[in-house]
Amino acid sequence: MTMPSLGGISQAQLRELLNEMGQPAYRAEQIRLHAWRGSALGFGKMENLPARLRTQLHSRLSWSSLQPVDSTVADRGLTEKLLLRATDGQEVEAVMIRHEGSPASRPRRTVCVSSQVGCAIGCSFCATGQLGLRRNLEAGEITDQVLEAARRWGASGLGQPTNVVYMGMGEPLQNYSAVVSSIRLLQEWGVAPRRVVVSTSGLVPEIDRLAAEGLPVRLAISLHATSDEVRDRLVPLNRRYPIEDLLAAGLRFTARTGRRVSLEYVLIAGVNDSSQDAEGLRRLAAQLHGHVNLIPMNKIPGSQLAAPPLDRCRAFAAMVGPRATMRISRGDRATAACGQLRAAMEADRRRLERTALRLAASSP
Ligand code: SAH
Ligand code: SF4
Repeated sequence: MTMPSLGGISQAQLRELLNEMGQPAYRAEQIRLHAWRGSALGFGKMENLPARLRTQLHSRLSWSSLQPVDSTVADRGLTEKLLLRATDGQEVEAVMIRHEGSPASRPRRTVCVSSQVGCAIGCSFCATGQLGLRRNLEAGEITDQVLEAARRWGASGLGQPTNVVYMGMGEPLQNYSAVVSSIRLLQEWGVAPRRVVVSTSGLVPEIDRLAAEGLPVRLAISLHATSDEVRDRLVPLNRRYPIEDLLAAGLRFTARTGRRVSLEYVLIAGVNDSSQDAEGLRRLAAQLHGHVNLIPMNKIPGSQLAAPPLDRCRAFAAMVGPRATMRISRGDRATAACGQLRAAMEADRRRLERTALRLAASSP
């Protein structure tokens, strides 16, 4: 069995471990503050801990289950995409997004996390869906994405994560227990469930299960269509849980948790961007009393699907009305494109491998 990572154990488990090492409980808080604030980038660097404890920690706990292998910065440094490698070599993405405050809102630092390597749902517009499911992430591998972000922001004096959205690679409700455990772990690190959004392509039984957990998270439903005919094509899971059942589950979620459900709608030219679609979406959102995030589709390799022109997107948003916002700007766009950095890296790597093979074959 691999060693647990700091992000994968609870505060009580950390205290227990320290107790076994003959250490007082307050050491747990010292360690966690370093990790969360980025004031030490490894157990060995925690200068207020005895040297022997630092060595002992190394033998019982890993610093992180994920190693950063690549990162790209965008939007004047407000967005940073991370590619992280697990101990078995599998890679996932996390996106760090800073929202500057305004007179009406406080600054936020949101981490968009992956819940699986790949995804089994296979939505036709999604880069992660094209991969298929490779494996589920463990709870610690999810919280470690947030810790990686916390260290990076913390080390640059920018503060700690305030919000977490499960909108990276994978379908969180298909990795239910690890996702729920990670939400509970994150609560201990200081991200309250109220500041967590779980996005789902529509697993009805798991939506009901989540509603009963007693965790006041927000739920986002990835709707993308207003008729079953179109949604069947975009999100194959719709054949099992059609729109009417999905929206009913959304309403039950709100009734049970008191939290509103929002809708995600990726705009695709000629597929779901007609005036009837806008009208249908307006009606469905009103039924749910929920907000709609419109996301012009990001191009993915090997697919002809594309976003409508910007003025069409704007007109669509206007028809849906005040419940709709278009997530076209900066970080939000990077969030929507989760899964694409990894897909692009894989394509690059395959190209490099092919070139290397050709060169090897042609060399004397
Ligand atoms: N599996 C979950 C959560 C991860 S996907 C879900 O589907 O809800 C997070 C969001 O990214 C979803 O709303 C999804 O529709 C969106 N997305 C996926 N591929 C996209 C693309 N090519 N362009 C824009 N948004 C995309
Ligand atoms: Fe999976 Fe979400 Fe992508 Fe659909 S959109 S394939 S559910 S990650």
